[in-house]
Amino acid sequence: MNNSLDSTQRIKNLDKASKEDFDLIVIGGGITGSGIAFDAATRGMKVLLLEKQDFAAGTSSRSTKLIHGGLRYLKEMEFNLVRQVGKERAILYKNASYLVHPEKLLLPIYKSGSLGYYSTSLALWVYDLLAGVQKKESRIMLSAKKTSSTEPLLSTKGLLGAGMYYEYRTDDARLTLEVLKTAVSYSAQAYNYTQVTDFIATEGQITGVETTDLLNNTTYRFTAKHVVNATGPWVDELRKKNSEDLNKHLFLTKGVHLVFSHLRVPLKHSMYFDTPDRRMVFAIKREGKVYLGTTDTEYHASNENPICTKEDKEYLLNAVNKMFTSLNLQPTDIESSWAGLRPLIHEQGKSPSEVSRKDEIFIAQNGLISIAGGKLTAFRKMAQKIIDKIQATEKRFGSCKTSHIPLIGSLGFAAKGYEMLTDKLPVYTLKFQEQKNLIRLVHSYGNASFEMMDKATDDLSLIYAEIAYCINNESLEHLADYYSRRSGKMLFSSNELLENQSEILAHFVMLKGLSETQIAKEKELIEQLKTEALGSL
Ligand code: FAD
Repeated sequence: MNNSLDSTQRIKNLDKASKEDFDLIVIGGGITGSGIAFDAATRGMKVLLLEKQDFAAGTSSRSTKLIHGGLRYLKEMEFNLVRQVGKERAILYKNASYLVHPEKLLLPIYKSGSLGYYSTSLALWVYDLLAGVQKKESRIMLSAKKTSSTEPLLSTKGLLGAGMYYEYRTDDARLTLEVLKTAVSYSAQAYNYTQVTDFIATEGQITGVETTDLLNNTTYRFTAKHVVNATGPWVDELRKKNSEDLNKHLFLTKGVHLVFSHLRVPLKHSMYFDTPDRRMVFAIKREGKVYLGTTDTEYHASNENPICTKEDKEYLLNAVNKMFTSLNLQPTDIESSWAGLRPLIHEQGKSPSEVSRKDEIFIAQNGLISIAGGKLTAFRKMAQKIIDKIQATEKRFGSCKTSHIPLIGSLGFAAKGYEMLTDKLPVYTLKFQEQKNLIRLVHSYGNASFEMMDKATDDLSLIYAEIAYCINNESLEHLADYYSRRSGKMLFSSNELLENQSEILAHFVMLKGLSETQIAKEKELIEQLKTEALGSL
């Protein structure tokens, strides 16, 4: 089978693809584009996906990393949306339990806050009902006394109690990669670092795209019957290139997250709490860290690599220090941070937090289909909507099947659940010292993680096995892309950016056969990564 995610075959595969005819070209390798490729490929379409950066380098690695039940939509009375995302969450949990983990959240209620005890109790009850939450995960309400014993970090002054409910935690970039790999296992082709620079039209209808392979500076033309623009914050840039009238357009807002050691923010539970300006902020526990976010501010600078500013940090530190008065967190406590852009649809007179998170589809006269807005959580349903539109014009493709298809890392155990995977871990615990790495691998790659553990003999060779797997199966082009999106180490294990750095780089150089100039570029990219995640702290 042609595995387009094997980066050792990249040039050969790209050359070949440029001579084929596709049913569908998807522009954008975030969760929206990957979901569309997944839906289309599983219906039997011949699909090509093109991404100008690394896969998931846009918003899809910069979210709060939650598969939401949509509590926020309840406030805006969007009942159908709550119902829909609740259902999507259950489907994803069934199909990718290695990637999606139930997380209990505490919702503290204060006399001076924006939430009332009884209204929160009712809202969480309605939410459970609409989202179809399982009985064992139904909300419970806690008294003030029970709340302080459950979470001693909370100040008792004015504390009325708390709600406890469930969200599901994921890794957004890993989810995107696993969806994409599943699409490729159904014969889709996907290439990163391939920028769409123009559209090709025949008799007024889009029939393909012109691209630049940014790694080799080569131009390719690809042809297809349908082209979808799923470029998130870049959607309008491509619509402009397609000479579309943008009377409905994007409104970008920036959201920032800060990461702290769990030792410095020793929360017993993840939390969702209100801020002095009556917004809501998450504090999520993950891998010995706690991350906090998010902000929501209008954004007008460059879409590539948005950064966390001093003001963003001050806003979040102020919110967290008001909620946990004993912590007194300082900027020097921040271990890493990230910033992402929400591709929202502009609504006249609404503030960033008020604008709806709904997705919207635009179809141009020449047939270019664009999709923007939406959520990570709703990716499967967004993809279904797009491919249903195409299928309506081409009946030979079947209906959507993705709700029944396990993601690639769950093959062989999906029906029995994720415990079956972790049950296998004790076999490996003697070989490796860092047990948390084994869990991270299972949570990232599912059953493919055992292939890495089988090959490795110690902790360092396990990293080598992971990198080799990513080169052969996940189009790993730069070592920096391993530290950021493949492994998440940049954000949640930033000390590892410095550990064994020269040995790991030397191994990567050997596997890829890089020249001196390319080695210098790899070093530069790792330095850039450090500056982005750790630099201005
Ligand atoms: P992107 O991920 O940005 O993908 C678009 C891709 O297109 C990019 O990778 C880009 O490089 C590529 N591209 C652009 N131009 C070109 C071109 N010319 N050629 C080729 N490729 C191109 N949702 C949830 O469900 N749960 C959450 O907890 C959550 N939290 C969030 C927190 C924040 C701060 C933000 C900003 C969003 C959050 N969201 C959340 C929403 C969710 O992250 C987004 O809806 C989703 O990631 C958007 O994905 P996308 O694929 O549409 O865009």
